[in-house]
Amino acid sequence: MSKEPIIVSAIINGEKIQTDKKIARENPTHPEQIVGYAPNNTREETIQAIDAAHEAFKTWAWSNVDDRIERMNRAIQKIKDQMPEISELLAREHGKALYDAQGEIAISVMWMEFAVKNVKKITTPEERKHENGRTIIAQDPIGVVSAITPWNYPISLSTIKIAPALLTGNTMVLKPSPFAPLAVSLVTEIIADEFPAGVLNLVNGDAEVGIELTSNPKIAKIAFTGGTNTAKHIMKAASDTIKNMTLELGGNDAAIVLEDFDVNDERALRRMVISNFLSAGQICMIAKRVYVHRSIYDAFVEKYIEAANKWIRVGDPFHPEVTVGPVNNKNQVDYVKSLVEDAKNKGAKIIPLGTILNPELMDNGYFLQPTLVLGADVHDRVVVEEQFGPTVPILPYDSEEEVINLHNESIYGLTSSVWGEEEHAIKVARRIEAGTTMINTAAVQGLDVHFPFGGVKQSGVGREYGLDGIKSYTETHVINIPAMKELPYIPE
Ligand code: NAD
Repeated sequence: MSKEPIIVSAIINGEKIQTDKKIARENPTHPEQIVGYAPNNTREETIQAIDAAHEAFKTWAWSNVDDRIERMNRAIQKIKDQMPEISELLAREHGKALYDAQGEIAISVMWMEFAVKNVKKITTPEERKHENGRTIIAQDPIGVVSAITPWNYPISLSTIKIAPALLTGNTMVLKPSPFAPLAVSLVTEIIADEFPAGVLNLVNGDAEVGIELTSNPKIAKIAFTGGTNTAKHIMKAASDTIKNMTLELGGNDAAIVLEDFDVNDERALRRMVISNFLSAGQICMIAKRVYVHRSIYDAFVEKYIEAANKWIRVGDPFHPEVTVGPVNNKNQVDYVKSLVEDAKNKGAKIIPLGTILNPELMDNGYFLQPTLVLGADVHDRVVVEEQFGPTVPILPYDSEEEVINLHNESIYGLTSSVWGEEEHAIKVARRIEAGTTMINTAAVQGLDVHFPFGGVKQSGVGREYGLDGIKSYTETHVINIPAMKELPYIPE
């Protein structure tokens, strides 16, 4: 579907800004087509945005929470009204299937509504009378937040930050990824228009803008979602001014299939396949390595291939039967290919999965044939690295001790899943090092925005979603009113 390219703006202090230098975003399905242009902002423009947010914070921090809620509700309604146009643009610039783009907006709205409903639970100060006097415990806004987001879920990973930050009285400068800047810019504009100038600012660009957003002394908090290596640069950049930080990073989530898993449970196998290949595998919390108890390994693999061949239908994101679209960008295609090639060279068997619905697109677009990798070694790159693409290794294990160790020796610990008899699976789950572990499901199918989400080890710091995801935009401020103003052991 070729259309006129859309041109989105930066937003600085309430003004929509265009720049001469632009980022062109191509369509991964038809890379010769430009879906639209975003401004390629400079360091100076980024500083203007930070200054505007810093100025706006002085009044926004003390604004009325009911007023903030009303504004956010108006923005949510407008996003819902414009869902068809936004999801279509998202599918075109990102490459994800249309149902997946619609699902991303639905999750974003669900979270924003949760934040609106629950913000007062966080911002209402608690007052305690006790034997030593009176104490007020308040949650104050932190200041200017810089939000830096990746390309894979650009709208949900931006609204996950915007909603709680603004509702708790912070101001923000958001920088989306140059690999999917368009639809998220429209959503940000909808929200920014409902708030006073300077409260929500938007700049585009890559590392130069990112570095200013993570080192400028006026930034009080960084909310970052992206790769673990980028986060290492960010932590260093932020260290001079000791910033508050939430980091949502990469993962190498394992699915552990216990010996009591029912290989004839077709619904469960379908959930497993979806948890490996939704969004062409480009989700932080997708199941990226599957360990199956050796006693059921052969039967599991056979049934898995049947389920995968049914569910995976590759092609144009706008084809109504397509479940898996192209990969987002050429670098990612080359990276995933290199992992599969490496496993193949070391003797692994590569099995193609699914049906190709639009064979004519495969050579030109950023498509990859989804694959299953069998016979890989536990230390092969496809097992230990985050593939972030449509391939998955399945490996056998012999004992629970062994598989728990294999899981926990990873540098990552974002999500994980255990599949089998429920109570047995919960017991194993308790021993896993991860922020979330799901039972008999995985990835976004088991995600619940009502509860905190985030990683351990090199998968991140802090939590988003749930009440924790609102509270993380506040600092605890204790006001003590002691009954006795002087301490008895201090001499006159
Ligand atoms: P990335 O780290 O390359 O880029 C993320 C953002 O950081 C982009 O906006 C980019 O422009 C910006 N950036 C790049 N260099 C920077 C610098 N030096 N300083 C500041 N900002 C900089 O990640 P990506 O390729 O866009 O996304 C894929 C990664 O994100 C995967 O590792 C995935 O697992 C992770 N991810 C994690 C979560 C989660 O919730 N844990 C969710 C989605 C994606």
